[in-house]
Amino acid sequence: KKGMTLIEDGKLTVVAELGFAPFEYMDEKTGEPVGFDVDVINAVAEKMGLAASYLPNQKFDTLVPIIKQGGKADVSIAAITITDERMESVDFSEPYLDSNQAIVVAKGSSETEETLNDASKQVVCQGGTTGDEWIGENLPDAVRVPVDDVTAALTGVQTGLYQAMVVDLPVASYMLAQSFSDLQIVKEIPTGEQYGIAVSKDNPELTQAVNKALEDMKSDGTMKEIETKWFGS
Ligand code: GLN
Repeated sequence: KKGMTLIEDGKLTVVAELGFAPFEYMDEKTGEPVGFDVDVINAVAEKMGLAASYLPNQKFDTLVPIIKQGGKADVSIAAITITDERMESVDFSEPYLDSNQAIVVAKGSSETEETLNDASKQVVCQGGTTGDEWIGENLPDAVRVPVDDVTAALTGVQTGLYQAMVVDLPVASYMLAQSFSDLQIVKEIPTGEQYGIAVSKDNPELTQAVNKALEDMKSDGTMKEIETKWFGS
């Protein structure tokens, strides 16, 4: 039986899209990635006797392909929803957080899920996300606009370039509270998603070790601590 392989000895090499607060984003002062997922993967790495090391920012829709292809990163943690389609390409850890989607519009806008389903409406999303897919399935008449950057997407809703954005609810809540006070969540969509850590199918020993670390973090209170830090109690 072959043991766990790592890109670099002693390190857990992580790839992510680093514009998804509060899960992973760049600290303006230190220039380092910070967030809920960053704390989770640092703790996972520590339990494994490794140090987590982030690659430069990558587009969200390249993360699963990068892990599938191999050779660059050991894991991807990026608020990635575990889906059947992605499971054809990569393995996932056990779920570490539950999530849903949200429709974000400008404050004072009269748009609803119903009015948005119209060919005159532009609905923005991060490309390749479950929000992107949700628009395709549930707002088939709207113009779906996939972009790379969530902040640019929200700014576009602010300026009226787009009528709405569909994005993970915890991200909508956090980013609206932090820096988009003129936007509002017009609908919470109970998609019942679960986030997992993506690992190559060629590295089942690593998935097992990540799962063991997550289990330990649940039982020793580390996970609770990280949840309280980012989402309150
Ligand atoms: N949870 C969503 C998905 O997996 C969005 C993730 C993200 O944009 N980082 O598609």
